[in-house]
Amino acid sequence: MESNKNSELYDVVIIGSGPAGYTAGIYAARANLRTLIIAGVTAGGQLMLTGIVENFPGFPEGVMGPELMDAMRNQAERMGVEIVYEDAVDVDFNTYPRKVMTDSNTFLAKTVIIATGASPRWLGLESEKRLLGRGVSSCATCDGPLFKGAKCAVVVGGGDSAMEYALFLSNLVEKVVVVHRRDKLRASKIMQERALSNPKIDFVWNSVVVDVLGELRVEGVKIRNTLTGEERVIPCNALFVAIGHAPSTEIFRGKIELDEEGYIRLRNGLETSVRGVFAAGDVHDKRYRQAITAAGFGCMAAMEAIRFIEGGWPERLTQEYRTAKALGEEPEAVSNP
Ligand code: NAP
Repeated sequence: MESNKNSELYDVVIIGSGPAGYTAGIYAARANLRTLIIAGVTAGGQLMLTGIVENFPGFPEGVMGPELMDAMRNQAERMGVEIVYEDAVDVDFNTYPRKVMTDSNTFLAKTVIIATGASPRWLGLESEKRLLGRGVSSCATCDGPLFKGAKCAVVVGGGDSAMEYALFLSNLVEKVVVVHRRDKLRASKIMQERALSNPKIDFVWNSVVVDVLGELRVEGVKIRNTLTGEERVIPCNALFVAIGHAPSTEIFRGKIELDEEGYIRLRNGLETSVRGVFAAGDVHDKRYRQAITAAGFGCMAAMEAIRFIEGGWPERLTQEYRTAKALGEEPEAVSNP
């Protein structure tokens, strides 16, 4: 889309283009609201990095993540949602209408739905950073095929992602080693059973990765046993880090309330600490984190935005802001309620 949107007023501006963002867009546009999705430079969210999705209802044979996101985007566009493929870089929630900025545009919004999701967490090792893209990866379905026929891939983590990665990689490499910091997996029972019974997957318990070895590409990982302190090296060609996700809330820091882990704190249904600004999906939900729950939250956030607009709040807030500005005061309902 052309970059000529400066200062245009939307009923709903949605930041993020995962299942939460697209679903919110579909609902808002269907309610005849002028709706914009700021999709980001890399649109589509985490499902773009996923292989087959077997648990999204309506697809008995499963559906590839990118295909599902493409279908959601098409559906949103058909409903009349406008989409820009830029990153939101800043917001101004101290004013009404709200402002959402990209590098080249400022969008005005009666309501904002934040659906920026979460991104992979890293171990925080210097060597991990240095070898990123050279054997270190956070996405087995994306990068696993690069290691087809390799001797060994190490997966760190004990959740569903780690099991999914290990199972996927077991079809590509000779041996997969899962390194987990405890002696119990967090993954769902079915994923645990599949991984534990796979002869190509070994488990190393009570251990953490303390270094990634190799100059130009990964040649091994150094692990430490958390009970004995003993260190040893596992020679391998790749390291897949699957230790969870962090919410993408950097641009909202100091502007809406976040919890200690950086997830958005909700006040009233899906409303954030700022009136007319709602959150949907992994950006506030650390409990369910599924494509289908994110889509559900997107629907709910859009319904709240619709009610907010139908309830006359944009007019009330605009008036309050004008009055307060004339008096040189901070308008109460415009900033945090
Ligand atoms: P997760 O469930 O939060 O698991 C993260 C794992 O990484 C945990 O085992 C955790 O250990 C470990 N970990 C965290 N920080 C670590 C660190 N600094 N060093 C070493 N290990 C660390 O994350 P996830 O596996 O990405 O799953 C996220 C959500 O998506 C879950 O709800 C999951 O069910 C869902 N999901 C589902 C599927 C599926 O159904 N096919 C696939 C992928 C994800 P502890 O256990 O000791 O905390």
